[in-house]
Amino acid sequence: MTISHRHYHITTFGCQMNKADSERMAGILEDMGFEWSEDPNQADVILYNTCTIRDNAEQKVYSYLGRQAKRKHEQPNLTLVVAGCVAQQEGEALLRRVPELDLVMGPQHANRLKDLLQQVFDGNQIVATEPIHIIEDITKPRRDSKVTAWVNIIYGCNERCTYCVVPSVRGVEQSRTPEAIRAEIEELGRQGYKEITLLGQNIDAYGRDLPGVTPEGRHQHTFTDLLYYIHDVPGVERIRFATSHPRYFTERLIRACAELPKVCEHFHIPFQSGDNEVLKRMARGYTHEKYRRIINTIRDYMPDAAISADAIVGFPTETEAQFENTLKLVEDIGFDQLNTAAYSPRPGTPAAVWEDQLSEEVKSDRLQRLNHLVAIKAAERSQRYMGRLEEVLVEDQNPKDKTQVMGRTRTNRLTFFTGDIHELKGKLVKVKITEVRAFSLTGEPVEVREIVSV
Ligand code: SF4
Repeated sequence: MTISHRHYHITTFGCQMNKADSERMAGILEDMGFEWSEDPNQADVILYNTCTIRDNAEQKVYSYLGRQAKRKHEQPNLTLVVAGCVAQQEGEALLRRVPELDLVMGPQHANRLKDLLQQVFDGNQIVATEPIHIIEDITKPRRDSKVTAWVNIIYGCNERCTYCVVPSVRGVEQSRTPEAIRAEIEELGRQGYKEITLLGQNIDAYGRDLPGVTPEGRHQHTFTDLLYYIHDVPGVERIRFATSHPRYFTERLIRACAELPKVCEHFHIPFQSGDNEVLKRMARGYTHEKYRRIINTIRDYMPDAAISADAIVGFPTETEAQFENTLKLVEDIGFDQLNTAAYSPRPGTPAAVWEDQLSEEVKSDRLQRLNHLVAIKAAERSQRYMGRLEEVLVEDQNPKDKTQVMGRTRTNRLTFFTGDIHELKGKLVKVKITEVRAFSLTGEPVEVREIVSV
């Protein structure tokens, strides 16, 4: 079958891991000769990269899919793919629900897309959800931005948080080798990318599954070692990472972040709850005291560091007093940003079948109260930027005002200022901050730093 001038469309739901997988799969499709189509209705291959974390994301997939399944009756050559966590969780049940589907593939199979599609073009309907050893990223991702890129360093998760589907859909931890990671970042540096974000569901677990132990008895390849190993890649000016787990967050890592100039002063460390009893039921493996100690240590080393996190309210059995402990933690720490969610039971997780689920009213009331506090604290945290000179890496045009460009400070605050995107994209600009809002800043450009790649 000839596939020149055929088009693909990918719709991505969920987390950064999914976005990174989508970019890799887009790279594979382009290598196969497909071209991107913004409009799914013009595409010959439509891929939904799905997420089970939020109910509405799952519902949206079904409604998009329903529409395209109808189109398939008029255009039998249309290929429909569901990838990601819903695919992994539902497997063959998805085919029963939407028989028009051609391919259902779990996240571990992202690198096999070409192979799987070829089987589809040969007339097969495929379900690929069995656990596999992840093949090294040999494909070139088609990156959405030309400035910032994600780099997977570890797949899967060995934790067993009682609310989370990730371990069952993304499998056990599999670290990439430091050499493969560095080679990918070097290639990104050569292509002109200025910022990379190292990704893993539990990034602090990096290296545990790689062979080698130091004379002191520690794993030879820890995440901290990896930072030292990759931090000087030419061309790359900024390094970020996500997601950190408080259970494994070490002072050695904090020291490395303070020491290495390219590592940005922004830490995303989900705490989920400020109550020790709830944390225990979530099987998170730390206390709120330990979490506070980590943040204090970060602030000892880097007083201006931005801290963001994820929190869940309304976990089964959470009492009003336990919820107030979460409010207290947020009040005390003062997060720069907090992603909040009301607990929603995910099929196949232990907490989903517990009795004592809270009512929707209680959950949404707590969520609103938490969000209110988060906005107040974020606005307070933003105040410190007023009048300061901040280094902003320009990523794009402000979609709401074409005379402005936007980018992020090292601490990850979204910042707008007047400028021409064609001149400034990918540049580091010193910006004097003149306006602060809870989650973004506005300023005036003072100086553009020319980046000389070495
Ligand atoms: S650490 Fe917990 S919440 Fe994060 S992916 Fe693993 S099981 Fe899920």
